[in-house]
Amino acid sequence: MATAKAYAAASPTSPLAPHQIERRAVGPHDVQIEIAYCGICHSDLHQVRDEWGGSKYPMVPGHEIVGKITAVGAHVKGFKVGDLAGVGCMVDSCRTCPSCQRKLEQFCERGCAWSYNSTEMDRVTPTYGGYSSSIVVDEAFTLKVSPKLALAAAAPLLCAGITTYSPLRHWNTKKGDKVGVVGLGGLGHMAVKIAAAMGAEVTMLSTSKSKEADARKLGAHHFGLTSDDTTFKRLAGQFDLIIDTISAPHDYNKYLGLLRVEGAMVLLGVPPEPTPVAAHALIGGRKILTGSLIGGIQETQEMLDFCAEHGIVSDIELIPVQQVNEAYERMLKNDVRYRFVLDMKTL
Ligand code: NAP
Ligand code: ZN
Ligand code: ZN
Repeated sequence: MATAKAYAAASPTSPLAPHQIERRAVGPHDVQIEIAYCGICHSDLHQVRDEWGGSKYPMVPGHEIVGKITAVGAHVKGFKVGDLAGVGCMVDSCRTCPSCQRKLEQFCERGCAWSYNSTEMDRVTPTYGGYSSSIVVDEAFTLKVSPKLALAAAAPLLCAGITTYSPLRHWNTKKGDKVGVVGLGGLGHMAVKIAAAMGAEVTMLSTSKSKEADARKLGAHHFGLTSDDTTFKRLAGQFDLIIDTISAPHDYNKYLGLLRVEGAMVLLGVPPEPTPVAAHALIGGRKILTGSLIGGIQETQEMLDFCAEHGIVSDIELIPVQQVNEAYERMLKNDVRYRFVLDMKTL
């Protein structure tokens, strides 16, 4: 066991504050990572404030983790001391169920071990995330990060990157496809970059007129202001695929009207309350409303390699860990361009 410094929430209403945790001794299949940077995902905020229910405290959030390997277990094959490495939303799964065998560990039928607000597969040992100085993880759940990528800006790929890459791949996004991305935050800006790199014609659908120029710089070809109802008439029936990243309740029916016949809308955002969907929004046009949850470990590596090949990283604001509570407030005010990343050497 080794002590690690961390930032933790003690309850849904307390701010994140300095805290100490124990990390397990490095086992034969484990790597130890000195965490250099950790991104702030809106899911961190949802869970810290117990907006989804069942949150466990003290909670050390953070699942966009990058750093350097400082120790490896005797049987580790894929990593050596000094390598760059990443850890995303999962740290283990059962590895034998049908989903795990299909490399969809995020859908592990026994329930995977999330990087925080969860337990290891023993269902007893709590997991603590990346707002900390180090982490010990099985190499099977550790990703390789190319030195070609700026390390701090690569951190958000571990959640925002894979969460948007996976549905774009699953729905076979290719040159000329019309893709709408809803919500220009951490996930949304990665969806724009990745969809554009796949050759899609990308439209940013945003409530923030002030983000139009940025959307175009990120790679969007068109912009639709969703606070203006005429946008929904102008763009009706256009899109092959819509990637919805909004974190707050909103009317899915309106966006379904923007799909072409048999087009699909993928929910990525997880608003705390449910939203009604009218049958007629789907049946006229055999439309598909679906969702997606991060991506498996193999696909996460594929995404990191794709980003290294295409020079894709996140647009970040690097902040000291002491500013994390302020960053949460700014995220709620839509004031993030486009991902906060914590510099862990400030811990
Ligand atoms: P974020 O950076 O806060 O971005 C969310 C964006 O949604 C905002 O920038 C804003 O874009 C839009 N938005 C916010 N409030 C809105 C409202 N009331 N009405 C309409 N639009 C609104 O958050 P994020 O980190 O990208 O995460 C987005 C959501 O995805 C969260 O719910 C998070 O928990 C979830 N998530 C899911 C997965 C998964 O695997 N499915 C993985 C990671 C995160 P505009 O200003 O452009 O309108
Ligand atoms: Zn996340
Ligand atoms: Zn499993």
